[in-house]
Order: sequence, then C-alpha cells, then structure tokens
Amino acid sequence: MEDMLDSILSEEDRYFREVVRAWVERECPKAWCRELERREDVFPQDLWDKLVAFGALGIGIPEEFGGQGGSMLNQVIFARELARTAAGLTWVWGVTSFSGAKLLLYAGSPEQKQALLPKIATGTLKTAMAFTEPGGGTDLLGGLRTRAERREGGWLLRGEKIWSTGASVADYLVVLARTDDAVERRTQGISLLLVPRDLPGIEIQPLPKIGMRAYSSCTVRFDDVYLGTDALIGEEGKGWYQSLEMLNYERLINAATCLGILDGVIEDALEYLRTRRAFGKPIGQFQILQHYVADMAMWRAQAELLIFHAAKRQSEGKPIAMEAAMAKIAASEYANRAADLGIQILGGMGYSAETDMQRYWRDSRLLRIGPISNEMGKNLIAEQLGLPRSF
Ligand SMILES: Cc1cc2nc3c(=O)[nH]c(=O)nc-3n(C[C@H](O)[C@H](O)[C@H](O)COP(=O)(O)OP(=O)(O)OC[C@H]3O[C@@H](n4cnc5c(N)ncnc54)[C@H](O)[C@@H]3O)c2cc1C
Repeated sequence: MEDMLDSILSEEDRYFREVVRAWVERECPKAWCRELERREDVFPQDLWDKLVAFGALGIGIPEEFGGQGGSMLNQVIFARELARTAAGLTWVWGVTSFSGAKLLLYAGSPEQKQALLPKIATGTLKTAMAFTEPGGGTDLLGGLRTRAERREGGWLLRGEKIWSTGASVADYLVVLARTDDAVERRTQGISLLLVPRDLPGIEIQPLPKIGMRAYSSCTVRFDDVYLGTDALIGEEGKGWYQSLEMLNYERLINAATCLGILDGVIEDALEYLRTRRAFGKPIGQFQILQHYVADMAMWRAQAELLIFHAAKRQSEGKPIAMEAAMAKIAASEYANRAADLGIQILGGMGYSAETDMQRYWRDSRLLRIGPISNEMGKNLIAEQLGLPRSF
C-alpha cells in the first residue's frame, strides 16, 4: 500500500522517520522494553540514558535553548516510532521533553527558559506534571484544592495531587494551584508553579497500576512548602490559560503513541498469523482472524490520517483543538480494540506476560482515560459543532 503520508511529510521528515525507526529497532527492541516495564516503580534509567545519547530529549526544543529544533510533525513521528516497541514507556520521553518543555516554552520567563530548557534537552533535568487532584481529573478546576499563598519572598503551597507520572524521579514538579479566590470565573486565579521535588514538606508515594509499571504515577502531598518568587511560571492567575495550548498538543502526542501501539500490534499479529498452525494450516488462513487484522489496518489508516493532518496544521500555525481531540479519541479507541483482538489472535500466548500484546492492551487502555477521558473529549468536539456545553 502506498505511504498515505507522502503528501504530508517532506523528504526531511521521511529521513528523520527512517533514522528514528532504525534507532528504535537497534536500541529499544520489544523484549528489552517488556523487561523494563515489568520492574514496578524502578525508573527505566537505561531507556532514559539511550534517549539522552540519541538527542531525543531535545526534539522540539528550539536550538537557541540547546535543543535539536524540529516541528510537531517530528515529535509525532518520534512518539509513534518509539511507541511501536516501548508502548506507554514513550512517556519517559514525553513527560519531560514534551509536556514540561512545552509549558516552559509557551509560558516560562526568559530566565526560566535559558536556565531549564538546555538541561531538559541534554537530559540533566526531569519534570513531572502535577495537575490532577483526588477530587477529580475531568472536572480539573472543580476538583482543584491545592493553594499557593503569597508570602514574604515567595509562596506557601498546600494541597494534594494524584497520578503525577514521574514525580518520584523528577527534579521539578509543574503544579497547578489556586492563587486567588476573588475571581469571576473559576478558570481565573490559577497559577503554574515550578516546584523543586526535594523541598521540605513534599511527600511522594507511587500508586500501584496495571500499565507503565516501571514509570511510577504518584500521589504528591504539599504540606506547607515554601517556594521562592521564581517558582511562578508565566503570569500569576493565568495558569489555566497558559496550560491550554500544551494540553491540546499533548493529545496529539498521546494519539501518536497509540498509533505506534497499533503498529506494534499489527506487526506481532501478522507474525503469529503466519507462523502458528491449527488444523494443518497457518491460523492466518482462517477468515475471521484475517478480518480482525484487516480491521486493525483500517483503524491504523484512519488514525494516521487524523494525527498527521493535525500535526501538519499545527506546524503551519493553525488551530488544532478539534483535530487533536478527534485524533486522540480515535487512536486510543482503535489501539485498545486492536490490542484486545491481538490477544485473541495469539490465544493463550496473548495472555502471557512473555509476549507484548498484554502490554499494548494495558498501555492503550490508559490512553482512553487520560490525560483527558474520551467522554470529555467528545464533549469538547460536540461543543465545537455548535451544541450547548454539556458539563
Ligand atoms: C496512569 C495514570 C497516569 C496519569 N498521569 C498524570 C500526570 O502525569 N499528571 C496529571 O496531572 N494527571 C495524570 N493522570 C490523571 C488523568 O489525567 C486523569 O485520570 C483523567 O483526567 C481522568 O480523571 P479521573 O481519573 O479523576 O476520572 P473522573 O474525572 O473521576 O472521571 C470518571 C468518569 O466520569 C466521566 N466523566 C466525568 N465528567 C464527565 C462529563 N462531563 N461527561 C461525560 N463523562 C464524564 C469520565 O469520562 C470517566 O469515565 C494520570 C492518570 C493515570 C491513571
């Protein structure tokens, strides 16, 4: 089948894709990723070190801040290629190199950018996002109880976060906190704070979870944590608005991760269909199993077009709120459905921890829930279609 991305990717983009694909194949094979993922709450330092050596942390960070530069298309290509073998562990790259760096890039002061982005690009600094609270992630603002009050020389931070991925190994936590109650709208009076993880008063606990087990997602308690004035990212009270762009773009990276998972699922399903035999023939001769994999190929094609169309628009400076939401929802539903069928194709081996289908299933399952649930994503799409806000 012709490469459907021919009209979207430049020759340079295609070369970049080849280089990343070869690196992933050589340095991050599936069996190696599978072993890393198994080690609960043991940060996959080996993966991090390889990402650093490859220069991956600097992709999308402008050269003036020590990065490699590169467009949203490059970041989408990288996430997809890595996720083919690493699945959810792609977030070891994404949480710092995408979410943390993007937020600093869009909202940080010139001093913060100069001080922090080169460290991110060279892998000497990790960030984690601490937005969600125990009171709810979909209604993020309704659940927001964490507060930062102005004090002599800085801020006093109190509150609790949940599911902060990478918090236990991060150098800085990016925290969303209410800084002003006297506001007309609840989107106002919220600020973004850059919190050094090792300050007194911070307690971090990994949560047991079914996927991405090596890369801990944590509860974080802030018990009267004193921060300097330089902790503020961007403008006081504008934190919610400053986050929106990054959150939109993050959906595209999630979608690309799901697309990579679809690649991995299809690859492994085809291999098994060709080699496993039943009733004297390869199981790939049974029509129903052929239909399963044909469905997967159609889902992948749809996800691919949605994602790369949105990434191209972003690279051209066009808005992508609707496109990114659609891409994220479609890709996560397809990837999870495909991984489920993949388990069926592999039969008992699909349920084995020694093959990768279960890992693809567990990791794509999460991406239907976070960072924005697919139900909430559809609410946003419906609203953009002109229907009244449902929430
Ligand atoms: C493994 C993992 C890693 C994560 N990493 C991070 C991280 O690094 N940083 C961070 O800040 N957060 C992180 N999260 C949090 C994630 O973003 C939230 O779990 C997600 O936003 C959903 O919030 P919730 O879990 O509170 O579910 P809830 O908000 O309680 O939702 C429960 C259900 O209600 C539905 N629902 C709620 N409101 C509506 C509505 N208006 N219409 C229709 N349906 C609705 C939801 O779709 C969902 O099905 C992570 C979560 C997990 C599980």
